Formats: sequence, C-alpha cells, structure tokens
Amino acid sequence: MASIQQDLLDLPLGDELAAFRAEVSGFFREQMARAPRHLDPRDLTGFDESFERDLLRAAGERGLLGMHLPREHGGGGRPLSYKAVFDFEAAYWNAPAIDTPVTLVAPQILAFGSPAQREAWLGPMIRGELLACIAYSEAGAGSDLSAIETRAHREGEGFVISGSKAHVTAAHKADLICLIARTDPDAPVRSGASILVLDMRSPGISVERRATMNGWTLGDVRLDEVRAGPDALLGEWNGGWAQMAAALRAERSGMFHVGWAVRNLEDLVAHVRAGGRIGVPRALARERLARLRCDLETALGFSLRVVAAQDAGNPEPHEASMAKLYATELLQRIARVATSLLGPAGSVLPGGPGAPVDGRFAWEYLERVHPTIGAGTSEMQREAIAAAGLELPRR
Ligand SMILES: Cc1cc2nc3c(=O)[nH]c(=O)nc-3n(C[C@H](O)[C@H](O)[C@H](O)COP(=O)(O)OP(=O)(O)OC[C@H]3O[C@@H](n4cnc5c(N)ncnc54)[C@H](O)[C@@H]3O)c2cc1C
Repeated sequence: MASIQQDLLDLPLGDELAAFRAEVSGFFREQMARAPRHLDPRDLTGFDESFERDLLRAAGERGLLGMHLPREHGGGGRPLSYKAVFDFEAAYWNAPAIDTPVTLVAPQILAFGSPAQREAWLGPMIRGELLACIAYSEAGAGSDLSAIETRAHREGEGFVISGSKAHVTAAHKADLICLIARTDPDAPVRSGASILVLDMRSPGISVERRATMNGWTLGDVRLDEVRAGPDALLGEWNGGWAQMAAALRAERSGMFHVGWAVRNLEDLVAHVRAGGRIGVPRALARERLARLRCDLETALGFSLRVVAAQDAGNPEPHEASMAKLYATELLQRIARVATSLLGPAGSVLPGGPGAPVDGRFAWEYLERVHPTIGAGTSEMQREAIAAAGLELPRR
C-alpha cells in the first residue's frame, strides 16, 4: 500500500520539481540513517550540532539548500516551490534542516542587503556553512513587537547595541544573529528601529539556554554594549520595522508543518494497521484516523495555495496565516488523537516503561504547542485572517 507521502508524490508538481523532490527525499533518507548516533534532546532539532552542520554542508554541496535563491549568489534560480518541497521532505524525514539561514535570514539579505553583504553572507548560507538566528522577540515584546527595548546607536563608523532578546531559536549554536533594535528612541518604532546582523562571537553577546516543555532549549540573548562595524546594518537606518514586516510576510509556506503531520499520521496509522496495542475500539480508531487523513489534505491544500501564490509573486499574508494556523493545529490534533487511541500508555514519554511507538506521541503532545506560538501565535494568525482576509473592523 502506498504511504501518505507517496500519495502526495503523485501531485501535479511537474517533472522537474518532482525529480527535485525525489532527490531531496533520497538525500534525507540516506543522511538520517546515521542520525540515531547523534541524538541531543536539548537541541530543538533533536540532534547534535556536528550532525546538523555536516548535514547542511552536504545539502549545500549537492545544491539543495538555495534552489530558490538567485544563481548569481550560488543559488538555483528556481521558484519558491523548490524551497517548499525541500521543507516538506526535511520535516518528513525529521532532518535538522528547517530553521536554516536560507529560510531565516537570506530573504532579508537578498531584499535589503548591500552588494557587499550579499556577497559575504549568501554564498556561505547556500553552501550550508553557517548557522543563523533571528532575534525580534524580547521578554516584554512578542506578539506586539512595537514594545522592543533593545537599543543601538552610532559610534564612529559603527554601532553599539545593548539589550536582551528572548526565545531565540538556535541562538546557542548560531554564527550570526539578525536582530531588530530601537535606533531612534524619540520616534515611533515604525520609523525608529533598524535591523542589524552581528557575529555571535562578538564581545558582549551571551546566550542563556532556557528549556521548553520538552527539554530542548530556546535562547535568551544578552547584548552588553556590543560593538559592530558599519557592515552590520542591514538596509535602512530606522527602516527596520518595514523590513521586518516584509520578511515576516514573505517567510514561509508552512510545508514543513505538513511534512511533520504526514509523517506522524503515517506512523500512527502503521501502528494501528499492524495490530499494535490501542486503548479504544478499532472502529473508533478507524473513524478518527479517517478524519485526520481528510484534515491532512486540507492542510496540504492551504500550503500549496501559498506556494502557488509565492511562485506567481503575489502572496497574500492572510493565506500564509491560514496555512500556518490549520497545519499547526492539525499537528496538535494528531498528537491528541494518538495519545487517546493508545490508551493510558500513550501518555508515557520516550524512555518510560511500556511507551508505545517509543513514547513518540506523548512527546508530540507537548511538542506541538510550540508551533502554535512561534512565528506568530494562533490568536495573532486569526487576527490577521480577520483583518486582511475578511476586512473586519477592529472595533
Ligand atoms: C518554539 C518557539 C520558537 C521561537 N523562536 C523565536 C525566534 O527564533 N526569534 C524570535 O524573535 N522569537 C521567537 N519566538 C518567540 C515568539 O515569536 C513569541 O513567543 C510569540 O510571538 C508570542 O509572544 P509572547 O511569548 O511574548 O506572548 P504574548 O505576545 O505575551 O502573548 C500571550 C498570549 O496573548 C495572546 N495575544 C497577544 N496579543 C493578542 C492580540 N492582540 N489579540 C489576541 N490575542 C493576543 C497571544 O496569542 C498569547 O496567547 C519563539 C517562540 C517559540 C514558542
């Protein structure tokens, strides 16, 4: 019987994109075979840094990382659907290749960087030689980023940056940090903030790792009078708010959420199909799994719509919100259904006694809260859909 992933392979991707997908899938299958020797539960990817760096370099050498970036910088010059396919397969194979610099930072460098900055950073990102993080959030500024307090001022040719950033993905291992800081404290943030890209080894930067519900960590980044040269400024001085908003809008199609959902549902179905122990009548399991299979198709539909709009150059922000909202909440539903189908043992975490499917779904149950918060909470996605999609007045 074909897997759900195989079903999706039959989508009308076009020959070239389908071939790329098969190549990426084969690459991850091969690379992930040695992953069990590199587990690190404190890292968000689940793997140690050396494995992640090796995998990214290998992907870079094969030309898989920057297919959607311009050829002049070493990319493949293809549409964003190539990136979506890469993200889907990375998630399906649970590979540490989701929050890569080509996803997090390259779009901003491409859109707003000087020729020298593009030259310096894009090539290494596309070759998989760098890890990067983005630091917008602060302890008092998450959904409402206008409350940021990190500051930067000019000193001589360069800048001095002070403040703290919170919940930063991959901060403890990143080579570069892309952050937003207030640069004109007397102006409203929309005309008084700038984006800076700093070397994480700069004196004055320190990272404290904070455990999430599943034990892996996000980083609190302290910036203590960090000095940076003139090439740290990305784009316009005091033009950072519009740049950040554009980057967040352009960010993602959510195909990696769909990739995780496909894998999780496949594994759950495989357990039930093989007669694995469950704590509910089989008829109920069949009904619940059939519902999730339909939901998966809806999630895929939303994401493909975003991908098509991105390829056509006219993405609608609220469509990306719908894709993210639906897929991340589907991930939670799959985990909820799984833990209830598996009965009381379904809540035993990995390594615990008698954990079915290696405790995978108990872990998923906790884990899938995170995507409904990071990169904009579900409430904020609904806000965006109501405002931009439905044009509903705020009052
Ligand atoms: C796994 C993960 C990874 C992350 N990675 C990064 C990263 O790499 N870089 C980075 O900068 N940040 C990152 N973040 C931070 C993330 O962007 C923020 O946590 C998120 O924007 C929410 O901000 P907050 O935590 O301050 O919650 P708050 O903004 O304080 O929100 C608290 C609650 O109130 C709700 N709420 C707030 N405002 C409204 C409103 N207007 N209408 C309705 N409801 C509202 C929210 O939905 C939420 O439920 C990450 C977070 C997580 C969980």
